[in-house]
Amino acid sequence: MMTELDFKTLSELLFPNVTKAPEDMELEYPARVLPEGAKVTRFAPSPTGFVHFGGLFPSTIGERLAHQSGGVFYLRIEDTDAKREVEGAAEGLIKTLAHYGIRFDEGAVIGKDGKIADQGIYGPYRQSQRGPIYHVYAKKLVAEGRAYPVFTTKEELEALNAVDKKTEIKERDWHEDDARQIEKQRAEREITLDEVKAHLAAGDPFVLRLLADGDPEKKIRFTDLIKGNLEIPENDEDFVLLKSDGIPTYHFAHAVDDHLMGTTHVIRGEEWLPSLAKHIMLFRYLGFKLPKYMHIAQIMRLDEVGNKKKLSKRDMGANMDDYSRMGYAPASVCEYVMTLLNSNYEEWHAQNPELPYTDFPFNIKKMSNSGCLFDFQKLNDVSKNVLSRMSAEEVYDQCLEWANAFDPDFGKLLAADPDYAKAIFAIGRGGKKPRKDLATWCDAKPYMGFFYDELFNIEDAYPENFAKADIEKALSLFLDTYDSADDMTVWFDKIKAVAEQLGYASDMKAYKADPAAYPGSVADVSMFLRVAVTGKLNSPDMYAVMQVLGEDRVKARLNRMIETLKNA
Ligand code: GLU
Repeated sequence: MMTELDFKTLSELLFPNVTKAPEDMELEYPARVLPEGAKVTRFAPSPTGFVHFGGLFPSTIGERLAHQSGGVFYLRIEDTDAKREVEGAAEGLIKTLAHYGIRFDEGAVIGKDGKIADQGIYGPYRQSQRGPIYHVYAKKLVAEGRAYPVFTTKEELEALNAVDKKTEIKERDWHEDDARQIEKQRAEREITLDEVKAHLAAGDPFVLRLLADGDPEKKIRFTDLIKGNLEIPENDEDFVLLKSDGIPTYHFAHAVDDHLMGTTHVIRGEEWLPSLAKHIMLFRYLGFKLPKYMHIAQIMRLDEVGNKKKLSKRDMGANMDDYSRMGYAPASVCEYVMTLLNSNYEEWHAQNPELPYTDFPFNIKKMSNSGCLFDFQKLNDVSKNVLSRMSAEEVYDQCLEWANAFDPDFGKLLAADPDYAKAIFAIGRGGKKPRKDLATWCDAKPYMGFFYDELFNIEDAYPENFAKADIEKALSLFLDTYDSADDMTVWFDKIKAVAEQLGYASDMKAYKADPAAYPGSVADVSMFLRVAVTGKLNSPDMYAVMQVLGEDRVKARLNRMIETLKNA
């Protein structure tokens, strides 16, 4: 058994280069001065790939809670696992989050040279650069008999790393091995100072383990802000704090960083819930105040047969970069996330359609504690609403940006005459009930392509029940009187006149009262014009369409259809 003095000696042997004490760290990272109730939150991704749709959840919640309370929201890059790190992933994460309007007050940023830099006084914000800070606390734990080294040979080390990797990703599954593991760990605790000296002299690597004082028979009562009241068994596992390369595990880095950076609320995936007992222990050993926790459930999706499944990395909709390609406006995605996050968001939004989602009083209590269901249909509905409320200018800018990246030919058409494109986008926009034609920018070309001669073609045929001669006559008669300077009433009166000349009903009431009395109605005459001018049976308001197309195009299209009908 080591004495207090031995622990102190041990800490010096293991960390001879650490000269600072925790007190020094406290001075370097003073408590934040913030208004009462201000929350400090962070998003702490590991740079192991793209931003998952699920990542927008903790980041949006963190952003809302911090900014709604006058607090601070920061970005920390958790890059302690070099093996899983993907080149450029951190830069990609920062860009993607910015694209979705997630505003950080401090943390890792992309510097002028394109490389990651720090912004803020609580950095470095990349864990890989915080090695010396962790070692100060590691030394303290050793000096207090709370942590001990386990030296290993190379082969043993590899096996340990494999276990540790699993521990970091998913809590270790301890079944029949439990007892043996614990027994082994208990034996390893008994290392002597002489043994340590010999190992160090031989250059053997060591991992630092925490000396757990928990009893799993005993339960810790804990309140998670989403999951509610929980009872979790105390931790009795001597888990790894520092790996053999001196890099901390998630557990250790979480405690040290969230303490020094002043995090008040930890918002993270529920896969970390099984590690909570470890974190509670670690905060206690380190003398840190435990932050509040919110463990959020995995996002679910429905599979082909309607069963709920986790939205996995490979599923459509998981990778945030896909949304740009699919043509979703960032605002649509953000709004959709809000509808998933807070059950009363939609109601609020219906009452305040003009307000940005940042005005919504986000409430933790309104969050679902089971997984939200991801659904493209719902996303599209939300998106149609969002796009319908944008100005024509905004729609043009975003659509052009998308088209330039993903449909350059269409992009060229849009860019060739911005005023024309904006006039098209302005149709049916701005009123109380705006048109909802677009869910994504991919929908723009099929919706408005007919405005461009390059894309115009007759997609829909005239219904069989109308005589070709009637249609041709209607188009010719309209053409004779058409004047693009007419206002809407005059324009429509002319269509009615055409109907009358054809023997069709010009008054819809009369027609509806006795449809058999007429070969058709003024609505059919409008349809004849619509197909000729837009190539489709459905289109936005014909008057507006003709106004935007302009007299020359309208006349050319009517003439073209008359020719086609003649030759048919
Ligand atoms: N780096 C951890 C992860 O990506 C962060 C968890 C946390 O927010 O504490 O799962």
